[in-house]
Amino acid sequence: MQPIFEPGSTIGVLGGGQLGAMFTEAARCMGYQAVVWDPDPNAPAHRVADQSLSTPFTDHETRERFVEMVQAITLEWENIPTDLCEWLEQRRPLRPSGAILRVLQDRLEQKQFLSSLSLPVAEFAEVQSGQQLHHAVNRLGFPLICKTARNGYDGKGQWLFRQPSDVTQFEQILATISSGARWIAEQYIPFVRELSVLVVRSASGETRVYPVVENRHEQGVLRVSLVPAPISSLDAETARELSVGAVVALQGVGVFCVELFQIQDGRLYINEIAPRPHNSGHYTLDACTVSQFEQQVRVTCGLPLGEVRLLSAAAMVNLLGDEIAAVTSGQGCREIFSTPGASVHLYGKRVIRPGRKMGHVTFTASDAEIAVASAQHFMSLFHNPPSAGPVPYR
Ligand code: ATP
Ligand code: MG
Repeated sequence: MQPIFEPGSTIGVLGGGQLGAMFTEAARCMGYQAVVWDPDPNAPAHRVADQSLSTPFTDHETRERFVEMVQAITLEWENIPTDLCEWLEQRRPLRPSGAILRVLQDRLEQKQFLSSLSLPVAEFAEVQSGQQLHHAVNRLGFPLICKTARNGYDGKGQWLFRQPSDVTQFEQILATISSGARWIAEQYIPFVRELSVLVVRSASGETRVYPVVENRHEQGVLRVSLVPAPISSLDAETARELSVGAVVALQGVGVFCVELFQIQDGRLYINEIAPRPHNSGHYTLDACTVSQFEQQVRVTCGLPLGEVRLLSAAAMVNLLGDEIAAVTSGQGCREIFSTPGASVHLYGKRVIRPGRKMGHVTFTASDAEIAVASAQHFMSLFHNPPSAGPVPYR
């Protein structure tokens, strides 16, 4: 049984992006102190932390200091080095564990794990060479998506092949890459809808499952999330059961987001699992009794889990790159702050880059259609798709 760390205790946070900042705010609101460790001195969570560390994660002196400063540890990003996690968890409870990260950090291992449990995922293959790429194309057919096995986010490091000629450019890249780089080739799932489900699981195995969310992406980046998802209650129950099943199979302790594809006949596929709060769960800050970040505090500290009740329908819109101007300048600023049910969240990032998540706005309303209409009206102010990331996308 995990001990309870009561308010007044200090929590360590690995990673200081917007998820770490929103976690830190929730922790401080509940009476905890937070030590944020992120090598980037400009990471948003440093601004709200009680204490912050900005040395590299490989710095052994810092890990000694960090562990002395905190009673329990959590993380905001799945790519924290697992050897650091394993060292830390021998000394303090770490939620989620380094073992979970080992499985989820690598898209191939994650998919192998899920398919070994007969959980529904796209057909996939490992690609490290031109020859393996050809085998994958022969076996999986077109369209096909190739993703870097590690370190992708917001659709970066992904290639979509619709026909044989699309493969040629990628073959040239394969010929020049350093040894050891791996890709996963996945069959393209012709989804009618993308969904996600937040699952919270405690050390004693208790679970809480949030309502199903529908997510719409643009160029691989989340554009808008709607809750409750416009699907039947039977489909919603199936999505929730599938998601809980995956987190239980992982023996996960923490907050998890299961991303799903739904196809025309209603069947669901798991796309991926994030072992942390998720962009598609930001609506919980404004529309639920207990937010995903408060749940993360509760799990990390061994407190009872909170209720996941939806208080109103919501539509969350991401502010990408210079779209932030739609809420920070002139008429847009006056309009958004006078819109009933609109909650503005800005992350305090200093540098604006195309497609970078700068903040979000959640529109709550008594009815999903009203929330969506408000979100659509707001998006019409800035609607121009973000430009692609450093690696060509599609
Ligand atoms: P994020 O950080 O937003 O979670 P990511 O970089 O981890 O993104 P994925 O979630 O795997 O990458 O893919 C991003 C988007 O690309 C998905 O939300 C979906 O729209 C599309 N996509 C990915 N894999 C597939 C697939 N096999 N079939 C169809 N669409 C896919
Ligand atoms: Mg994803």
